[in-house]
Amino acid sequence: MTDGILTLDAGALSAAVRSGEVTAVEAVEAYLAQVAVQEPEVDAFLSLDADAAIAAAEAVDRARASGAALGPLAGVPVAFKDNLCTTAFPTTAASKILEGWVPPYNATVVDRVLAAGAIAIGKTNLDEFAMGSSTENSGYKITRNPHDLDRVPGGSSGGSAAVIASRMALLALGSDTGGSIRQPASLSGIVGLKPTYGRVSRYGLLAYASSLDQIGPMAATVKDAALMAEVIFGHDPMDATSLRAPIPALVNALMEGVTSFRVGLVSDLLEVASPAVASAVGRAAATLAQLGAKVETISIPELALGLPAYYVVAPAEASSNLARYDGVRYGFRGNGETAEEMMVASRSEGFGDEVKRRIMLGTYALSAGYYDAFYLRAQRVRSLVRTAFQEAYSRFDLLLSPTSPTTAFKIGERSEDPVEMYRSDVCTIPSNLSGDPAISVPFGDEDGLPIGVQLMGPALSEERLLRAAFALESARAEEGER
Ligand code: GLN
Repeated sequence: MTDGILTLDAGALSAAVRSGEVTAVEAVEAYLAQVAVQEPEVDAFLSLDADAAIAAAEAVDRARASGAALGPLAGVPVAFKDNLCTTAFPTTAASKILEGWVPPYNATVVDRVLAAGAIAIGKTNLDEFAMGSSTENSGYKITRNPHDLDRVPGGSSGGSAAVIASRMALLALGSDTGGSIRQPASLSGIVGLKPTYGRVSRYGLLAYASSLDQIGPMAATVKDAALMAEVIFGHDPMDATSLRAPIPALVNALMEGVTSFRVGLVSDLLEVASPAVASAVGRAAATLAQLGAKVETISIPELALGLPAYYVVAPAEASSNLARYDGVRYGFRGNGETAEEMMVASRSEGFGDEVKRRIMLGTYALSAGYYDAFYLRAQRVRSLVRTAFQEAYSRFDLLLSPTSPTTAFKIGERSEDPVEMYRSDVCTIPSNLSGDPAISVPFGDEDGLPIGVQLMGPALSEERLLRAAFALESARAEEGER
């Protein structure tokens, strides 16, 4: 049985651990062996602790031996994006300004995943403070795409995506402010779900743009993503924006199919995609239609306005959120004769270029005299996007689009041109502005590089998104078998 550990999905592995067929220690050792082979090439982790993982697995096995009931993720190796607070690992958000900082508490999501019996392997690389689409903005290192080591894994949750794609853990958490779960999922050939704003507690997430940030699962399969979603969804009194919505039985609903679904294929977002990506989305539409969904094309021109609005709103919120890194309370402290000099040195040396660029853009957009022209205007555009979605969702249960206009690009290819990099978020940003959920699921490839398609839905429609994603995933698997 232990030979086949790496072939089991999260549900099967935790069932095997609960039944005693596999011990949690065996499970974790199999994954640590995989880490030893893959990590030197992929560079996905900012911190790793094999001894602690084994110790945690031993605790799970002891709990089982003593007759305690084990959780739904018993013995499942997981990785956390390094902008989630953990007491067992440093938490840096890939910024030098937080080098070595160990938080005094765990993020609520981290506690929930660990309470379900999962074993933390380590913390994953990201673009500094989640600002980026390639993980190249990390203050520490560049993570490589396991499908082609010369290419980026996407970002900002690129480390989490690469960990799943190279099977160094079975489940990972990412965060998504403008696409940072879905875009790396797409570029790395895995599943990524951005839940409805407020579905998952943000307590213990280092804030980037608080009105847009949302934590979600990243996994190799739709079923694993659904399983992790069940564990992390739910109200948390520690997060004032947390929703009090009941948690649906997501895994059990997956097989229910798509026959009653009205799906809108968003033409405006197809037009921005490369021919290979557009054709994959077209095939996904045809597949859903074959499975009984009613698919129609819809134009929603407002969605493309999301991109410029996001790049005002997100930096504005970031400029405020990142004011707390002053060299006094956390992490890195620069030198200076006076408090002000010390703070200037800490922030100048501690933050990377992209973070500084966004702090400056955001401060400018919020400053007196420019507030109306930029911030207020962007908020109006945000309302437009939200209204356009509402209108679309009155006619459609789901919308289908590319996740990212292209497949994974080469390391270095876009890092000199921030605007070109920003453009890769055009398909994912709208659902952050509206707060609605969306998922990326692999559907085809171009010369071996994965392509993801995006399904978007109205607030709290995660069950529907997962069902449709599962249908696409199953159809592709059957095609492969034929
Ligand atoms: N790529 C987008 C950005 O750079 C989105 C990042 C995210 O979702 N955290 O802001």
